[in-house]
Amino acid sequence: MKKITIAIDGFSSCGKSTMAKDLAREIGYIYIDSGAMYRAVTLYCMQNQIIEGEHIDVEKLKKHINDIHITFQLNPETGRPDTYLNGKNVENEIRTMEVSSKVSLISAIDFVRTAMVAEQQKMGEQKGIVMDGRDIGTTVFPNAELKIFVTASPEIRAQRRYDELKEKGMNANFDEILENVKQRDYIDQNREVSPLKQADDALLLDNSNLTIEQQKEWLFNQFNRVTQSKQ
Ligand code: C5P
Repeated sequence: MKKITIAIDGFSSCGKSTMAKDLAREIGYIYIDSGAMYRAVTLYCMQNQIIEGEHIDVEKLKKHINDIHITFQLNPETGRPDTYLNGKNVENEIRTMEVSSKVSLISAIDFVRTAMVAEQQKMGEQKGIVMDGRDIGTTVFPNAELKIFVTASPEIRAQRRYDELKEKGMNANFDEILENVKQRDYIDQNREVSPLKQADDALLLDNSNLTIEQQKEWLFNQFNRVTQSKQ
C-alpha cells in the first residue's frame, strides 16, 4: 500500500501525541513529536544561558542554532521514541514545567522555526510518517494526505497534563498547569511566524468527551478512508 503523510495539529495537551504515537505504531509509520524538538531547543537555551527568565539572547541563539542536534530513538521499555539532544536522552527533562513555561517564547523565533521545519521536512521525505505539532498541516507538510486538527477545553487539557506528570512521578500543580496551557494557546495562536491555526483541509476533532480508545478508533477510520480512496 502506498504510504501517506499524516499531520496532526492542535492545542497543547489535547492528546495529539498519544493518538499519533498509537496510530504510527499500528500502521508501521515513523512518529515524530515536533513539540519535543522545540522543547529540546528550549532546554539547550536554559543549559547555555541563552534564556534567563523571559529574556532571550537571540544573537547567541543564532550562533548556536547549528550546534543543536535533535534525534529520536525508540525506547524498548515504553515502545515509544525518546528525544535526544546532542546525543543525550532528555525525554524527561524536556517535559518539566520550566521548559513548558519557556518553550512558546523560543518557538516563536523565526530562525528556530526555519531550522526545525527543515529537519522535519527531511524526516518526512519518504512519507510513511505521522507528525504532530502546531504547523504541520499548514507549513511543514502542506500536501499531507491526512490532516487532523485536535482540540479540547483548556480545563480538560490541563487535567490530562497533570495526570501525565503525576504518573511520571513529577511535580504538578493543576492551577499552574492550567495557566500555562492558556498562556501557550495565546502565544501559539498569536505569533507572527506559522501561528497555530486549522488548515483549510484539516478535519476537526474535539476530543473533550472522547476516551482514548474512541479517538484512536476515529483516527484509524480516517486513515483507512484516505488510504483506501488512494488505491
Ligand atoms: O506539543 P507540545 O505541547 O509539547 O509543544 C510544546 C510547544 O512547542 C508548543 O506550546 C509550541 O509553542 C511549540 N510548537 C510549535 N510548533 C510545533 C510544535 C510545537 O511551535 N510544530
